[in-house]
Amino acid sequence: MINRDDFISGKEWERFLDFSRDLETPCIVINLNTIRLNYQRLRGLFPYSQIYYAVKANPEKEIISLLSEMGSNFDIASRPELDMLLALGIGADRISYGNTIKKAADVAYFYEKGVRLYATDSKEDLRHIATQAPGSKVYVRILIEASSTADWPLSRKFGCHPDMAYDLLIMARDLGLVPCGLSFHVGSQQRDIGQWDDAIAKTKFLFSSLEEDENIRLSVINMGGGFPASYTQATNDLSEYAAEIKRYLVDDFGEDLPKIILEPGRSLVGNSGILISEVVLISRKNNTALNRWVYMDTGKFNGLMETMDESIKYPIVSSKDAPGCKEAEVILAGPTCDSMDILYEDYKYRLPVDLKIGDRLYFLSTGAYTASYASVGFNGFPPIKTYIM
Ligand SMILES: *Cc1c(COP(=O)(O)O)cnc(C)c1O
Repeated sequence: MINRDDFISGKEWERFLDFSRDLETPCIVINLNTIRLNYQRLRGLFPYSQIYYAVKANPEKEIISLLSEMGSNFDIASRPELDMLLALGIGADRISYGNTIKKAADVAYFYEKGVRLYATDSKEDLRHIATQAPGSKVYVRILIEASSTADWPLSRKFGCHPDMAYDLLIMARDLGLVPCGLSFHVGSQQRDIGQWDDAIAKTKFLFSSLEEDENIRLSVINMGGGFPASYTQATNDLSEYAAEIKRYLVDDFGEDLPKIILEPGRSLVGNSGILISEVVLISRKNNTALNRWVYMDTGKFNGLMETMDESIKYPIVSSKDAPGCKEAEVILAGPTCDSMDILYEDYKYRLPVDLKIGDRLYFLSTGAYTASYASVGFNGFPPIKTYIM
């Protein structure tokens, strides 16, 4: 049994139970106030930065509107995300097209709607930006080596070697664009703060060499996401990340820092959500088997995608949890007819021995990469519903 108090206050938990008692499962309940506090905290810890919320983490309209009111900007990756933000009244000048993989027609669409800030990591994409979004600002994403300290790595697929970033920024200038800076993403749920040190050192090298060799003065470092949400595996407090990162920046750049952009997703919305799931079946694979299989009405295809390879280990609370109650190990699985739909088998959760069919399991910290990752209806199970409280 996890210690629920480590993740949510007793008062907040009671409020959540009152709100959710009659909701049909599976569903996710989002506490907007938690997001408000997370945003304020991040603002306070990184007062020198600009925040661009990574919309893919949770694109719920109420979340976007709240963050917009609080002054956030937005990092997006597709036309539908752009249309949604514009429909909510968010100005194109607060939007960054952070996806390095885009069609020329998509760039043209963003440009027509007024977006003037683009990420790139290849010559081909840069040419599209130059022709479809002339005069815009571009930043080049550098490759961060695969690191096993991120629970959800974003390496390999994105970014280019610093040597190529150097060439791309020169090419951007020569194509009439504004080469404004560099970006990186150290991997999502990054537990090793030192990863920012290496990445920032790479940006410093490029800032200096481009100025000396080419008289190109970069002004922006987009540090992407990577800050943690609270799951079962321990992480440093966000204040430690802030202190260390500030130190790396000052070591490399002195007090006259470049403009810093942050693109938090998980750390802003992760702990705002609780996914409620009902036990569908509890069984054993033979008469003397020690482990129970607990099958839930949520699985990989309707909200718990990040259990892939058991990457993210959510804190789980059951409606039978009580101080001192007897527990035993379980294997947790989802409801679909796909054997990939097993949530945790290597990592053994312990749940009360008197857990019964119809009881509820609460997956804490499920505000990020859950609802937006659900399938459209695999096996007929619909995408998971979100409620805002
Ligand atoms: C997904 C994504 C983020 C958000 O990352 P988190 O680890 O959830 O904070 C930020 N920037 C880019 C470019 C992304 O693709």
